Amino acid sequence: MALIDIGVNLAHDSFDRDRPEVIARALAAGVVQMIVTGASGESTRRAIELAESHPAKLFATAGVHPHHAAELDGELAAELEELAARPSVVALGECGLDYYRDFSPRDAQRRAFVRQLELAARIGKPVFLHQRDAHADFTAILREHRRALVGGVAHCFTGSAAELEETLSLDLAIGITGWICDERRGAHLRPLMRDIPAARLMIETDAPYLLPRDLERKPASRRNEPAYLAHIARVVARARGVEFGALAETTAAAARALFGLPSPLMRDLELHE
Ligand SMILES: [Zn+2]
Repeated sequence: MALIDIGVNLAHDSFDRDRPEVIARALAAGVVQMIVTGASGESTRRAIELAESHPAKLFATAGVHPHHAAELDGELAAELEELAARPSVVALGECGLDYYRDFSPRDAQRRAFVRQLELAARIGKPVFLHQRDAHADFTAILREHRRALVGGVAHCFTGSAAELEETLSLDLAIGITGWICDERRGAHLRPLMRDIPAARLMIETDAPYLLPRDLERKPASRRNEPAYLAHIARVVARARGVEFGALAETTAAAARALFGLPSPLMRDLELHE
């Protein structure tokens, strides 16, 4: 079994006291590769540092989350372009629109989003996309830029059947988090799992956020971590009506193809047999 967590905020300060243990627990739980999300200038720098000190296991994204959109000035954009070109960076993002929190003004969000899409197109790397309560604007902007992009994933997809159809029609991959484990707000996602082509379905924890609600033994801290990816994989496998092993294999292959990840080292795989 070899799972890939395509979205883990390992640079987050909630991991400062025990990051090596968190990474070790993930590897021991069969999460052989992780993509560390960059969500601001600062977290992108930290994500890259982490990725480069764990080659072939950790990778990074470079980007500015819509919450931080107002911070994306010319100087940060130039730095981002430089950072995004590094081999450890496998995608631009997370970028997109978040009209739920509106931490940055919406016009600043749209500007920062477009800027990052253009950057991704220029350097030929896929995009790691965030969208909340902004589906119409998000798809309209993507429709304009999709042709120039090599690919992308709608990370933490939580939308409706119609939104899924529209996202798939943009030829994007879908990232599923532990949101699907929430019987109150995530139940609608389960029947949609069969509608996602295997080559475009990926899984992620979004740790430290979104601790799966139905975990049998929840940590007192309520902090999510990448070791719980196997739990999410089991829920998604059940919803698709496939074996856990098959889901692990197809989601890892899909992630490896989109982000151009190398195969995990044999000795890491053997740990889990
Ligand atoms: Zn996000």
